[in-house]
Amino acid sequence: MKITEHFKLSEFERSETAKRLGIDNSVPKEFLPNIKALCEKVLEPLRAAINKSPFKGDLEGLDIPVKLSSGYRCPALNKAVGGSATSQHMKGEAADIIIPSKKVGLQWFEWMRTHLTYNQLIWETNNRGGSWIHVGYKRTGKNKMQVLNMKVI
Ligand SMILES: [Zn+2]
Repeated sequence: MKITEHFKLSEFERSETAKRLGIDNSVPKEFLPNIKALCEKVLEPLRAAINKSPFKGDLEGLDIPVKLSSGYRCPALNKAVGGSATSQHMKGEAADIIIPSKKVGLQWFEWMRTHLTYNQLIWETNNRGGSWIHVGYKRTGKNKMQVLNMKVI
């Protein structure tokens, strides 16, 4: 099922951990509007931006997708991956974005920080040196515009 032009619901439900542990990570209907808002207000604008100069660079002429390493997390999956007990992932309000490289990822992060509305924008790094961008957006209520740099185990 397509949520917006470039994002499918399956991208939010996909999880290697859920598969391995036999966890059903289907998005409950009540959270679909949250995911749609996240796609419309954050992910599609980011995708549109990175497909313009100066982001394209050597990738000129290519259609660059925004890929997620984590979207929705049901409570069991969130627990299994060590997510925060109040994680926005559990409401379909957050996504972890895969970056092509640290250098490009930092450009995306800076663009997001200065152009988008978000509740939290976090540059996350794990203990193996891998980095990704966590972004949370609230469809209802106030978006805090909090920017963080976090080490994640
Ligand atoms: Zn996250």
